[in-house]
Amino acid sequence: MATIAFIGLGNMGNPMAANLVKAGHSVQGFDLLPENLRTAAENGVMVMPDAAEAVEGAEVVITMLPAGKHVVSVYRDVAPKAGKDALFIDSSTIDVESARKAHEIARQHGLLSIDAPVSGGVGGAAAGTLTFMAGGSNEAFARAEPILQPMAGRIVHCGEAGSGQAAKICNNMILGISMIGVSEAFVLAEKLGLSHQALFDVASTSSGQCWSLNTYCPVPGPVPASPANRNYKPGFAAALMLKDLKLAQEAAQAANAATPLGAHAAQLYHLFNVHGHGGDDFSAIVNFLRGILPANTESAAKNSEK
Ligand code: NAD
Repeated sequence: MATIAFIGLGNMGNPMAANLVKAGHSVQGFDLLPENLRTAAENGVMVMPDAAEAVEGAEVVITMLPAGKHVVSVYRDVAPKAGKDALFIDSSTIDVESARKAHEIARQHGLLSIDAPVSGGVGGAAAGTLTFMAGGSNEAFARAEPILQPMAGRIVHCGEAGSGQAAKICNNMILGISMIGVSEAFVLAEKLGLSHQALFDVASTSSGQCWSLNTYCPVPGPVPASPANRNYKPGFAAALMLKDLKLAQEAAQAANAATPLGAHAAQLYHLFNVHGHGGDDFSAIVNFLRGILPANTESAAKNSEK
């Protein structure tokens, strides 16, 4: 069992650290927010006064932070304090450029590192079923894999440094675009007098099938576990979807890739967020689309009763 430093004990970090404790690791945690430190202590994490002390004696350092600037700043602070054989794992969702910068800081201190962002949300973090998308050398991945296991349902080595972040933003660009596509189809179906259930029954077993429809259906009824059935309580908040779509657009611009639908999806989620829906599940975009089209609320209401 390893001594692991865990920096960033928020909505994701706390349950992830708790699963490492349950697996028998000794976890030294740090976060800027006292309430998150209290939760961590209740979960068996040894709470440390700062990040530098958290990495002392740690064989592995895991970060789960809001954005690239936080990761780069924490790496600058703690890499010089880490033991010479420590492995750095960043599981935050950040831009590819910052991810590569973080790898470079680790490398300058002779440390192995991987970027290993996740999908699966807070539910997956609590259940220990996250999908990890890892970027880094074979040697770093081989050391990281058993550490990630208690937090993971699936672990994929995507390639060299930054590849995990690249996979994450490409996947979430598909998700954002497909959720808008599925939502538009439901809004059109309402106008055409087609019930939600009828569209679902056809499209979920035909060429329109996808995760946004089959597993995470944006209208209440056809998929009882989807957030649409609990007033769009997240799930995966629209603000986080916007964050990932913006990261995809930054990467597309830097790499000179054409992503016109990704750009449009980012614009729509931006509008949805500025209208105060950042805390709603991202599938609530269906209500926004219904609102910006000439509304036929009567037929929509009838439809949801069917
Ligand atoms: P969060 O805001 O709940 O947690 C981030 C934590 O980092 C906060 O507790 C904050 O106090 C702490 N922090 C910030 N700067 C720090 C520093 N310098 N030192 C120590 N702690 C610091 O966010 P979250 O939902 O846990 O997400 C974390 C990361 O995971 C993000 O990059 C997010 O995009 C990604 N992610 C989130 C989800 C989700 O569903 N919440 C899903 C997949 C990926």
